[in-house]
Amino acid sequence: MVKEDWKTAAVKRGLIDEIERLLKTQTVRNEGITNVSQFVDLALRDKIATVRKKRFEHVNMYEDHVKILDNNIGKDGRIISVYFNNEWPWCEYCEEDVCVHIQYAWEIPEVRDILKGRNIKPPPSRLP
Ligand SMILES: [Zn+2]
Repeated sequence: MVKEDWKTAAVKRGLIDEIERLLKTQTVRNEGITNVSQFVDLALRDKIATVRKKRFEHVNMYEDHVKILDNNIGKDGRIISVYFNNEWPWCEYCEEDVCVHIQYAWEIPEVRDILKGRNIKPPPSRLP
């Protein structure tokens, strides 16, 4: 390994102690992890993958619509508006009344409460 490829980050002693305890377990050994650096490296890679995978973010809510960031559109994601001022919600991006954005909007508790209050029906099934 080349020294220039490495940088140091401070980790609390208690966490290192816990990792050292875990390194002695069969579960961690079975993953082929043998030292603290390897464990931290894998944990960080997992966290990075989780953050990258997060597709939707609730941006803001208005009287008649909710704004959602869809990180899967374009390079930097796109903010989508889902309107709920009619009997069915409406996605301005998909131009549909059933889509992943409406599904996600339903998963936001504040939005769901408003939609239920207006007798708007939930999407028929969970979409991929
Ligand atoms: Zn949509």
